[in-house]
Amino acid sequence: MKIGIPKGLLYFKYYSFIDAFFDLLGAEIITSEDTNKKILDEGIKYAVDDACLPVKVFHGHVALIKDKCDYLFIPRFIKSSEGQYICPKFCGLPEMIRSSIKDLPPIIDDPILGLDEGELWTFSKNVGKKITRNRIKIRKAFNEAIKVQKSFKGGIKDEGYKLNVALIGHPYNLYDNFINMDLIKKINDLNLGIITEEYMDEDANKKEIEQLFKKPFWSFANDYYGFASYVGRKRKVDGIIYISSFACGIDSVIIELIKNKLKDFPLLVVKIDEQTGKAGLETRLEAFSDMLERRCTNENYYSASWK
Ligand code: SF4
Repeated sequence: MKIGIPKGLLYFKYYSFIDAFFDLLGAEIITSEDTNKKILDEGIKYAVDDACLPVKVFHGHVALIKDKCDYLFIPRFIKSSEGQYICPKFCGLPEMIRSSIKDLPPIIDDPILGLDEGELWTFSKNVGKKITRNRIKIRKAFNEAIKVQKSFKGGIKDEGYKLNVALIGHPYNLYDNFINMDLIKKINDLNLGIITEEYMDEDANKKEIEQLFKKPFWSFANDYYGFASYVGRKRKVDGIIYISSFACGIDSVIIELIKNKLKDFPLLVVKIDEQTGKAGLETRLEAFSDMLERRCTNENYYSASWK
């Protein structure tokens, strides 16, 4: 049984669980290549024009592996916990793909209704049944995959830099080097250290969210806003770089919330789509880095160390 896994969207966050689970079930995993120009072109060809760049790129990944597998794995991710929803594009992703790309193999599109072990087991049990009838094997694969995911830290926490920035954005924007045009390397090349929200303490994040008039119901919004508010308020970093997808409604709301909270704290918002050029990105990063350097020299201000 060959399971096709498009290397896009939330695969960047949950790949350790997904790969371990299917592997232990005995399936052969066919993962698409890292995003490249061909994948982007295919995505643009198939996806609707007003889709965000990560969704277009996901279409490209699907197009390039659909003929190599027996099933495509495109779960319908609805919510991460009670009252905490994911972007609506994830709920309709299987339909979007079916209506845009023809001649697809069957799609594993079971819903994910939470990231706690109970909900994940319900999801995994239903998915596992498509691969094997052996329930014990499914349970063992699930238990092992959960362990693997828990031991996987992810994220970035650089050390030894004089100036540091919090890098915020969806994992498929932060960790897909083609989509973000090697942003992480570019930031480090400017002598800026990076820290990402995976290193944020959950309780500290909750405290930041509680200060909002109304808690956002998107889990992305809570994670990113909580992190930005904490590092900005406590001056844990010298600036924030937010990488955002053009036409992403959730990003627009989060960015406004961050601006509103942190006022004049240095914040660079980089919006990306398929038209974004490397040169423009480099110029903006250099200008931001120069500004941070000047600010720290003139105002004798440096970020507090990260704990
Ligand atoms: S959260 Fe934004 S970037 Fe992500 S899929 Fe939804 S619209 Fe696209």
